Amino acid sequence: MTTPRSATAATRRDRRPTVTRDIVVTAREQLSPRMLRLTLGGDDLVATVHDTPGAWIKLFIDEPDGFGEHGRAYTVRSFDPMRDEITIDVFRHGAGTVARWAHESRIGTRARIGGPRASGAPTSAATALTLFGDETALPAIAAILEREHSGRTIAATIELGDDRDRQDIALPRGAAITWLTRGNGERPGTQLLAAAEQAAFPRTSGVWFAGEAASAHWFRHRLQALDIAQLHVQGYWRSGVGDYRE
Ligand SMILES: Cc1cc2nc3c(=O)[nH]c(=O)nc-3n(C[C@H](O)[C@H](O)[C@H](O)COP(=O)(O)OP(=O)(O)OC[C@H]3O[C@@H](n4cnc5c(N)ncnc54)[C@H](O)[C@@H]3O)c2cc1C
Repeated sequence: MTTPRSATAATRRDRRPTVTRDIVVTAREQLSPRMLRLTLGGDDLVATVHDTPGAWIKLFIDEPDGFGEHGRAYTVRSFDPMRDEITIDVFRHGAGTVARWAHESRIGTRARIGGPRASGAPTSAATALTLFGDETALPAIAAILEREHSGRTIAATIELGDDRDRQDIALPRGAAITWLTRGNGERPGTQLLAAAEQAAFPRTSGVWFAGEAASAHWFRHRLQALDIAQLHVQGYWRSGVGDYRE
């Protein structure tokens, strides 16, 4: 592991979770035009994976000059306890540092992870679930849906910039997905917010939203007044801001 030397890097290091683990890319799969699945292997990984759907890790890569590092959050899409491997799905959104690293990685590329941390997914106490998210939240929504066995009603709404990034997700009984497509030049989250305006949110239900920070802010503001039993809203990235942290 490198020792950050610049003041900026030192600040980054201070904000880093205390425990990191070395990982190596063991497999790569292009799921859709802009979504890449990376399998990450390492010693003692599985013991660190929270048993909550949508848990996330911080992926750390070295800066090209070796001084300092970049860390970004990614959802644990799945884990394999027999092989000590986790998978993450990385959305290539543009010129993002870590997204580009992922898409340029090869089997054998090394990095580090910190965490995992829980996703805030609604617990079994919620009578129904309503999930909203964009491409960056798609892995968490898929993980939540795949771990669901209660039969309660679940409505997932996912906004994409490109229809070709849709995925086949195994749906539990009682669940349905609505795919929405962002218009050209439309602000991220616009379609999600329009869908939320039409939705009903029973007070005993769980509502989960993740996506661009401005849309998350609006969504939180809109739903806080409804006094919903379990409300989790998180900005996963902010338009125009690198290394965004809420
Ligand atoms: C808890 C949590 C879980 C997450 N899980 C996932 C996941 O499973 N898969 C995943 O792909 N992402 C996930 N994200 C989002 C991811 O961490 C951010 O998109 C991050 O900014 C990517 O880092 P980067 O180095 O590629 O870009 P940065 O260097 O952070 O940003 C560079 C530029 O790209 C822009 N940008 C960042 N993200 C996007 C985007 N999605 N669309 C358009 N522009 C963008 C920024 O505004 C900035 O202008 C998660 C975030 C959180 C907080």
